Amino acid sequence: MRIAVLTESDPAEPRVAAVPDTIKKFKGLGVDVTVQSGAGLKAGVPDAEYEAVGATIAATSRDAAADADLVLKVRRPNEEELKFLKSGATVIAIMDPYGNETALKAMADAGVSAFSMELMPRITRAQVMDVLSSQANLAGYRAVVDGAAEYGRAMPMMMTAAGTVPAARVFVMGVGVAGLQAIATARRMGAVVTATDVRPATKEQVESLGAKFVAVEDDEFKQAETSGGYAKEMSAEYQKKQAELVATHIAKQDIVITTALIPGRPAPKLVSEAMVASMKPGSVIVDLAVERGGNVAGAEAGEIVTTENGVKIVGHVNVAGRLAATASSLYSRNLFAFVETLIDKESKALAVQWDDELVKATNLTRDGQVVHPSFQPKAA
Ligand code: NAD
Repeated sequence: MRIAVLTESDPAEPRVAAVPDTIKKFKGLGVDVTVQSGAGLKAGVPDAEYEAVGATIAATSRDAAADADLVLKVRRPNEEELKFLKSGATVIAIMDPYGNETALKAMADAGVSAFSMELMPRITRAQVMDVLSSQANLAGYRAVVDGAAEYGRAMPMMMTAAGTVPAARVFVMGVGVAGLQAIATARRMGAVVTATDVRPATKEQVESLGAKFVAVEDDEFKQAETSGGYAKEMSAEYQKKQAELVATHIAKQDIVITTALIPGRPAPKLVSEAMVASMKPGSVIVDLAVERGGNVAGAEAGEIVTTENGVKIVGHVNVAGRLAATASSLYSRNLFAFVETLIDKESKALAVQWDDELVKATNLTRDGQVVHPSFQPKAA
């Protein structure tokens, strides 16, 4: 059996799907690995480091994929790459399937079995394969680093001979995986941190990290979590009350990090134009939800916007990719943990258990068809 690791064709994607450590583990399972030349460069891994752990280097994606049974990528293969894959090959990546039905059909037509890592169920057994968490955690960290870099002042309180520098006030909106890491990072950098979320369970988590929880804690708030642990979309009345509270709080903040998402819905709008206008010149907002429509009025994907009153709204995309080496390392471990369950240890070949719940949840295409229940054509 042969695994191919391809160079990402999207120039905005610096991550790589396998690092030398995970290649060593694949080799340990008795599997051959080919890496496309240059695949790891943007993540700080030269070809020689892959060769040193026993990978073969191929000059092009065509050469790398030619006889591969399994292709590992960060992003979905494009039309060009699909032409190079063996019919019946398996491809695993972050497929971004929602709204991309044409691309799913192209993968089915190419005869590949495609698996989408971000559809992995969030159950205990699959925690080690959870790419949403591994990447969101890094994004939360990087959002604070980016916010601090744009902020023209220091983060911690400093008592110096020339006078005292006050600590920055950081407000984190949305306390999921990214938000929790943002709180912890801002605290480590010495900021005074507050945070808000619509899920009541987050209050204790915020406080355990030494930050203060800010939210309208009414009856609706107490019921605001789905059985799956995700946020519900809140009523217009709740949103109004929350907005009023946020409005008075936000005007006093130096850095705001927004991370609020609702599965399957556009990101909730949490920071209005008026709220941005109420902030002090020089303050910074980092919108981690910008690729999903944004939490902040005026945020633009891929841009740092400076408003008329001198507030910077940071809208970096692929924020985990801004830590390409760490993000690749964690992503490739998530991938290895999943791939290991697909390989038969005796025959050292792919032996997918099609009735395994992890396989059923992540498998998009098989035998020329889009098979995932969430992506079936709607009945007329
Ligand atoms: P997410 O990325 O979907 O959303 C980020 C946060 O935004 C969430 O905390 C959400 O409640 C919040 N949010 C939504 N609307 C909001 C609003 N109007 N105002 C303020 N905040 C708002 O979240 P996530 O990081 O994927 O985490 C979601 C849940 O999944 C959490 O309960 C988390 O503990 C759980 N989780 C479980 C596992 C596991 O393996 N069991 C792994 C990771 C996360």
